[in-house]
Amino acid sequence: MVAVKEARGQGYAKRSLGQNFLVDPNTSRRIVQALDIEPHDHVLEIGPGRGALTDILAASEAHAVYAVEKDRELAPRLKARHPRLRIALIDALDVAWERLSPEHPWKIIGNLPYNVASPIIWEIAHRAMPASRCVFMVQKEVAQRLAAPPGSKTYGALSVFVQSYMRVKLAFTVGPQVFRPRPKIDSAVVVFTRMESRSVDAEALGAVLAVCFQKRRKQLGSILKQFWSQELEMLFEKRGLSTTMRPENLAVEDFQALAAVMNLRFRP
Ligand code: SAM
Repeated sequence: MVAVKEARGQGYAKRSLGQNFLVDPNTSRRIVQALDIEPHDHVLEIGPGRGALTDILAASEAHAVYAVEKDRELAPRLKARHPRLRIALIDALDVAWERLSPEHPWKIIGNLPYNVASPIIWEIAHRAMPASRCVFMVQKEVAQRLAAPPGSKTYGALSVFVQSYMRVKLAFTVGPQVFRPRPKIDSAVVVFTRMESRSVDAEALGAVLAVCFQKRRKQLGSILKQFWSQELEMLFEKRGLSTTMRPENLAVEDFQALAAVMNLRFRP
């Protein structure tokens, strides 16, 4: 495991766990502020690390604060500092998001490990339904993909999938200087708000997105040739789509409609 000694008495930062710790209290405060914590909220932090965000969350008016951390050295230290914090030593990719209690509002926050940020957000988008608002710091390039509108270069499967369940807003960008160790890239904070009304089949949508964006420069007529049907023909007509369009020109709702008609049952 590659580790970098960064601060006396704090142990090593583990690259394998994407550990770039926030050391600027002002940035930490801005990230937590974006979560809009209210007294009845149950707040869950992913990857609390050395506690840059956790310290602020623990002092907030949140009803309860939970955390999931994969690092078995850091988790107990944080628990010792914040005895009321409910911290689980698990991989965020293994969280049973469906089991978040719907009885109270949830907000999820994290300066996410960059290597697993996209899959974590993908799972939360369609499985953590009681989470009304999330704030995540990710690589700037991932933030741009998450918030991308149709027609833009970064619009792709991740944009469409996450925007099918949540409104996505790139809040602000953050330079490498606020982290130890310093990453080589810029980061950005993204705010997600749950859209209540959507009922979208995640598996069917994921499958259509995999098919379409694997060949994003090709025209839809060619991409969808093997799936072509009368229903697809009717859908294209109804939504004003053309077989010469490319996937990046379709709206989020167009992909949802394609998913409902094609109903593919495999995962990307
Ligand atoms: N929140 C801290 C901060 O802002 O300084 C730490 C952020 S650091 C970028 C990412 C954190 O996520 C680390 O504490 C790391 O140990 C933890 N982590 C990495 N992979 C994880 C995973 N799969 N599940 C849960 N936590 C993970």
